[in-house]
Amino acid sequence: MSKYMDGRLSALTPYVPGEQPQDKRYIKLNTNESPFAPASALVDRLAQCAPRLNLYPDPEMRTLSKALADTYSVQPENVFVGNGSDEILAFCFMAFCGSKGACYPDISYGFYRVYSALCCIDAKEIPLQDDFSINPADYYNTGRTVFIANPNAPTGLSLSVQDIARIAEHNDGVVVIDEAYVDFGGTSCLSLLNKFDNLLIVRTFSKSRNLAGGRIGFALGNAALINDLRTIKFSFNPYNVNALSETAALCALEDVDYFETCLQNIQQARESTVQQLKELGFVVLPSDANFVFAKPPRGTGEELYLALKDRGVLVRHFAGPRTGDYVRITIGTNAQMDVLLAAVQDILKPE
Ligand SMILES: *Cc1c(COP(=O)(O)O)cnc(C)c1O
Repeated sequence: MSKYMDGRLSALTPYVPGEQPQDKRYIKLNTNESPFAPASALVDRLAQCAPRLNLYPDPEMRTLSKALADTYSVQPENVFVGNGSDEILAFCFMAFCGSKGACYPDISYGFYRVYSALCCIDAKEIPLQDDFSINPADYYNTGRTVFIANPNAPTGLSLSVQDIARIAEHNDGVVVIDEAYVDFGGTSCLSLLNKFDNLLIVRTFSKSRNLAGGRIGFALGNAALINDLRTIKFSFNPYNVNALSETAALCALEDVDYFETCLQNIQQARESTVQQLKELGFVVLPSDANFVFAKPPRGTGEELYLALKDRGVLVRHFAGPRTGDYVRITIGTNAQMDVLLAAVQDILKPE
């Protein structure tokens, strides 16, 4: 930190993204990307869009907002589009937390902690229960803005829609539900939007829509909350989503069959991976996401991570007293999971 950096940020520890190594070709099961290419129409559509890049994109994102509204049976005024859902989460910390503070699970998406520190927000971390689940009652009457990833990361565990409803009901402040992984098996709380004016859903194209590189996220909520996000965006970067990304997102929304096929593939690969890991003696949390959180029969999560990396397979390991024994494994293609499982068997085989 230079002597010029704001002293209030001295405690800021930036988010550490999963490795994107360039040294050799790994099987990447460490950042929950989709193993599948974007929808096939994308290349032509981007080519059509490219000659218009001399112009700014539509700061209102009208076309994409309308397409999302149609997809999720809401009105365009209930939709906000962001440069990845990370940006929208940051906007939520800016818009809703300054005076109230924030709260979120102690084991969850790492960016909640980072954005709290970046925005100098008082944050309370609420411990997960011993089985890594969230106790909904821990989030009643918090007096704070609530952030919950549902399904949670890196556990993959979900809360029910009824649990979310109770949390929204028992808070005066905004309840942000981060549904980055909901397409893989959880249940969206979309149906609660017309009951709770403090509920905001944040979603992304990065995981289930094969577009992590496109950087597109969106929020669904009542018009007043959406307008608050717009106020932040137009005070920060009106052109937050570029024209190529808007096109990519539209293309992904249109190809419904491909979307469904990719999801089915991931779900099937997940079920078979879970079963095989269990047969190898792993403890595996029941996952509704495109990853599994798994504890090897011996050795730490870090040791397994390093041994897998040696064998060309990247997974994610989170240091810490409760997470350190586990690795988080993204579900890839069947062929990728076969390589992972063979490597795991090799690592665990008796000397
Ligand atoms: C991946 C992830 C995001 C961020 O997604 P982007 O849209 O790529 O910014 C948000 N929340 C959770 C829980 C995630 O795992």
